[in-house]
This record gives sequence, structure tokens and C-alpha cells, in this order.
Amino acid sequence: MSVTATKPASAASGGRADASPGTGSGDVPAGQPGRVVLITGGSRGIGAACALMAAQRGYSVAISYRDNKAAAGGVVRSIEMSGGRAIAVRADVAIEKDIMELFATVDRELGVLDSLVNNAGIVAPARRVDQFDLDRLQLIFATNVVGSFVCAREAVKRMSTRHGGKGGTIINISSGAARLGAPSQYVDYAASKGAIDTMTTGLAKEVAAEGIRVNAVRPGLIYTEIHASGGEPGRVDRLKDMVPMQRGGTPDEVAAAVLWLMSNESSYTTGSILDVTGGR
Ligand code: NAP
Repeated sequence: MSVTATKPASAASGGRADASPGTGSGDVPAGQPGRVVLITGGSRGIGAACALMAAQRGYSVAISYRDNKAAAGGVVRSIEMSGGRAIAVRADVAIEKDIMELFATVDRELGVLDSLVNNAGIVAPARRVDQFDLDRLQLIFATNVVGSFVCAREAVKRMSTRHGGKGGTIINISSGAARLGAPSQYVDYAASKGAIDTMTTGLAKEVAAEGIRVNAVRPGLIYTEIHASGGEPGRVDRLKDMVPMQRGGTPDEVAAAVLWLMSNESSYTTGSILDVTGGR
């Protein structure tokens, strides 16, 4: 694990603009110290869009990444050049030790955590279920499900009033595939996102009286590199006519939903799963 870039921990450490338990984070008023958000997989795609939008709205931002140090550094630099505060930490969410070090780094560098975006996720190349091998299944579930659970556990330990925290928000990035099943492509991925939906429902109820709101966003077909990593770079354009809105979505359109769920604008919303799918 390594910190790619950071600014001196002076102004924003532990700062809170509005610490009312149960309401979660709001956008930070001008002149107030920044709230702190951790976005897993923030080096590219939807996570990077969330990081840039959160920084624009006054949050101090920690992003994690697995391999792409250059992309993570680019996100941090772009935030810093706009006067924001950001760090990038290499941490594989499939490895518990990496997650523990990631949270310890955020504690040390940025202060009290207000929001977690469980965004890091992977797909594997399209296959039928009768072609899946064990390594593939274990990697998908370790990354998409176990990683999100361990990050949620660490966030709850820091945010819950039961543990002396002041509340916060957790936003899980699910997928429209959880409803559709992704037959002959990646039923394993779809099932992992189904688990994220169920985790959202259960954890939201478990910590609702402890100042933490837990919600999920289910993106549809979004223009990012995840499709190329599954072996099909042109997937969004190939399938976009199946979308009622007749187009793919942008990472910013997903980030806007995430930022709403992080903010006080959604103060009575918990356990919700918000489709950002163009109607699909
Ligand atoms: P992406 O462009 O492929 O970016 C994935 C990000 O996750 C990168 O920052 C990557 O880091 C990071 N990552 C991958 N595995 C990781 C691991 N084991 N530990 C830590 N970080 C890891 O993906 P995306 O499309 O933005 O997807 C983000 C989330 O949205 C995922 O949960 C995905 O399932 C979900 N989603 C996406 C779509 C879509 O159409 N794009 C639709 C529905 C749901 P590196 O840069 O280091 O590789």
C-alpha cells in the first residue's frame, strides 16, 4: 500500500461542517473545513467521477486503487489543482490487510470519516455458468462482495454513535445487472451485485438508529473501461438501443446520484436502491 499524493494535514483534519447524527453529510458550506469521503476504486470511471464531484462540493477525498497508480495520481492532481484536498492509496479491496491499512491512512491523513462509497468492482469475460472456474468466482465475490462488507465494517466502527462516532453515510455501487441477471455474460457479477443490494437493505436497518444512512446506486450501461476489462470495449454502444432512453450513461450522471445520497438533501433516505439506468 502506498500514498500517491497528499497535502499537509492542517486545515481539514477531522473537520465537520454539520455533524448532526442521522442526517449524514451535507455539501460543505463555503469557509468550513471539509467533510471526508473515502471512495474505493476512485482512480477511474464512476469512482473518479465521484471523487472529482465530491471535491468540487468541498469534501476532502481519499481514493483507493489496485493497479493504476498513474490514473489515481491524475485524479489527485486534478483535485489539488482546483484547490481541493485528496489522497490516493493503493489497496486491493479483496485483501483485508490492505483495507485495514487504507482506513488507518484515511484516519491519519484526513481525519474523521463522514462517507464511504463502496465502488471498487470487477467483471470477468463473458461466459456461461457452466464455464465458470473456481478462481473466477472467488475473485468476483472477494472483490465485489467481501471487499464491500469489510469496508462497510470499518466505516461503521468509525461512524456509529454506538462506537462513539457522529454518524455518516455509506453508498454501495450495485448494478442494474442485479435485477437483469446478465445471462450468458456474467451471472456471477450480477449475483455479487444482488448481494450488495441485500447488504444495503440489512445494514441500513442495522445502523439506522446509530446515525448512519446506507443506500445503493444501481448504474445501468455507463461509458467506462469496465466493459473493455470484461473483453467488450464497445458494449455500451452495442446495447444502448435496449435502454428506454436510447443511450448509455456517463460517470457524472452516476456520481450526481451518489453525491445526493451523501448529502443532507437525502436526510430521510436509507435502505434505498436508486436505479441510474436510463429506464432499463
Ligand atoms: P472501471 O472503470 O473498470 O474502474 C474500476 C475501478 O475500481 C478502478 O479505479 C480500479 O482500480 C478499481 N478496482 C478494481 N478492482 C479493485 C480492487 N480489487 N481493489 C481496489 N480497487 C479496485 O469500473 P466502473 O465502470 O467505473 O465501475 C465502478 C463500479 O460501478 C463497479 O462496482 C461496477 O460494478 C459498477 N457498475 C458499473 C457499470 C458500468 O456500466 N460501467 C454498470 C453498473 C455497475 P485500478 O485503476 O487500479 O484498476
